[in-house]
Amino acid sequence: MTRAVIIGAGIVGSACAEALTRRGVEVVVVDRSAVGSGTTSRGEGNILVSDKGPGTELSLAELSRRAWLEVGELIGPSLIELEEKGGLVVAQSRAGLEALARFATGQRAAGVTALDVGDPQVLEPRLAAGLPGAVHYPEDMQVQPVLAAAALLAAALERGATFRTGTDVTAAVRDGDGSLSGIRTADGQVIEADVVVNASGTWGGEVSERLGAPVPVLPRRGFVLVTEPLPPLVRHKVYSADYVDNVGSSDAGLETSCVVEGTRGGTVLIGASRERVGFDTTLSVPVVETLARQAVALFPFLARVNLLRVYRGFRPYCPDHLPVIGPDPRVPGVIHACGHEGAGIGLAAGTGRLVGDYVTGARTHESAGEWAELLPDRFAGPSEQQV
Ligand SMILES: Cc1cc2nc3c(=O)[nH]c(=O)nc-3n(C[C@H](O)[C@H](O)[C@H](O)COP(=O)(O)OP(=O)(O)OC[C@H]3O[C@@H](n4cnc5c(N)ncnc54)[C@H](O)[C@@H]3O)c2cc1C
Repeated sequence: MTRAVIIGAGIVGSACAEALTRRGVEVVVVDRSAVGSGTTSRGEGNILVSDKGPGTELSLAELSRRAWLEVGELIGPSLIELEEKGGLVVAQSRAGLEALARFATGQRAAGVTALDVGDPQVLEPRLAAGLPGAVHYPEDMQVQPVLAAAALLAAALERGATFRTGTDVTAAVRDGDGSLSGIRTADGQVIEADVVVNASGTWGGEVSERLGAPVPVLPRRGFVLVTEPLPPLVRHKVYSADYVDNVGSSDAGLETSCVVEGTRGGTVLIGASRERVGFDTTLSVPVVETLARQAVALFPFLARVNLLRVYRGFRPYCPDHLPVIGPDPRVPGVIHACGHEGAGIGLAAGTGRLVGDYVTGARTHESAGEWAELLPDRFAGPSEQQV
């Protein structure tokens, strides 16, 4: 039986563990900390197709959406707060509406359901009056990321996987021919493995170097505002049409375009900024103010609502905005599953399926097919400066 060690018990590592044990692979999950304690506990839980243009990431989002629905059936959607609530992308100017309409046309050609909405208040009565139009994406979903990571890991443990917390991976152990035979940990232990999955999120770059197969994963900071609990006033995930440009931008400077969504607990989440400032944890009041102002422009009632808290996290960012998924030919036995940036929750379930294919040999580096763009050898040149 193949033995896989998965480094990282975030949403991606946990989804990989569930997918691999489903296929009969012996799995050991290791994390230096607790399940879901990395960026998984710092995101919002959007599972979006709406923000992705035609291409490999959209294909992965579609695969992942189907996989999330299967996971929901397995675990019970309410346990992980999986909701098919749909997204509403709102234009705030005539020019914005034209750009949004062009983007949606391309998505429809790729199979996405994108419905033009003349009056956004019909779907979201508390939106500001007079907004020129919107596109409704009924396929967008939401999940509670930490609950989902814990439930996926629990499903794997029930099938015989083991989980070692407090385990910091420091190196790969290799055979005489260079192929991998396990990992070494900070406390000097060796855990034997046929395959090692690098699911260490924003630390995927550091871990990949430790494994001898470096890939450029960098932190991209984001703040999220949390309101006091309210009655259900926001029905969909609602965001400004500018958001798509912000997500795809490689600018290191601050970018903000807010996403507003209600949660089961009644709080409204207002996310999220994007900036490349390394792992700087300082609270930025100007960022909080900007996000709040943008949210109030969409939903004026928010001006009278208290903020409960603000949190921040570091998205695992690759320079080309695509995750790294697949075997690394430099160290046979290493498979990467990291660098999902601001879409790791949404893309986790599909990533688990792909990693399952690679680990069982159903797919190889050579037969990656439509997923070849995600392979690690696309980073031929020197990696970007670590900021
Ligand atoms: C503000 C914000 C909003 C976001 N909103 C969304 C959203 O709405 N939808 C969406 O899809 N995504 C969103 N994201 C992105 C999403 O949160 C991430 O892409 C996702 O959580 C990455 O999951 P992961 O499992 O790869 O990484 P992580 O959750 O960070 O897990 C990696 C794990 O690896 C462990 N690890 C690291 N190094 C080692 C080591 N040496 N040894 C052992 N273990 C190690 C860490 O302890 C950690 O637990 C958001 C992110 C931010 C910051």
